[in-house]
Amino acid sequence: MTSRPQQLRVDVHVAILVGGNVDADAALRTLVTRISGRDPGHPTRSCRSCGSSNHGRPVFRTPTHEPTTCHRRRTHHYVSISRTRDRDVTALAYCPTHPVGIDIETVNAAAFDGFDAVALHPYEHCENDRERTQLWVRKEALLKAHGTGLATDPRRIQLAATGEIIAGPLGTVTDLDLPASAPGIECQAAIAVTLPHADVHCHVWQLPNR
Ligand SMILES: [Zn+2]
Repeated sequence: MTSRPQQLRVDVHVAILVGGNVDADAALRTLVTRISGRDPGHPTRSCRSCGSSNHGRPVFRTPTHEPTTCHRRRTHHYVSISRTRDRDVTALAYCPTHPVGIDIETVNAAAFDGFDAVALHPYEHCENDRERTQLWVRKEALLKAHGTGLATDPRRIQLAATGEIIAGPLGTVTDLDLPASAPGIECQAAIAVTLPHADVHCHVWQLPNR
């Protein structure tokens, strides 16, 4: 196993929930509580464009403060939520150290006319709809990690076939191997963190499907 010496390890915790009635905010709170050992409270929203707390990315307003011997250390809860278009599959991501983005789509969700024209960088090329969907979830995850969403034109981002960022916002993009626990639903997903050249370790957790 070789890794670049300057790579920093980043741990990302993921949960996939199946069903149309999933309470994503409650599930996110459960995931963060389970990993961090502290209840972060209920997530609110933060819109980067207008500052609203009614929409935008999920945030926990009250990061916990862990008392230590001589000072108090702030613990961050960077989180992201994605739902497939039919809303039957929900993906959650939590990273304690860096802003994180997750995107999930059903297989071949990008199989529509004109996809290449609206989504591909001039130097990108896709052989088939699976590649198109993978490219899309990678770009979406990266934009969500930065909190910009589709305010950034996906055509300005160029990714290598490996997912490495050639042009676009800084970060590390990793494909997600989905657990076999989503029966009958085939999805493609990716996660991204804003740290470049990160050694991303993805942990997939089972949560109760309430
Ligand atoms: Zn807004």
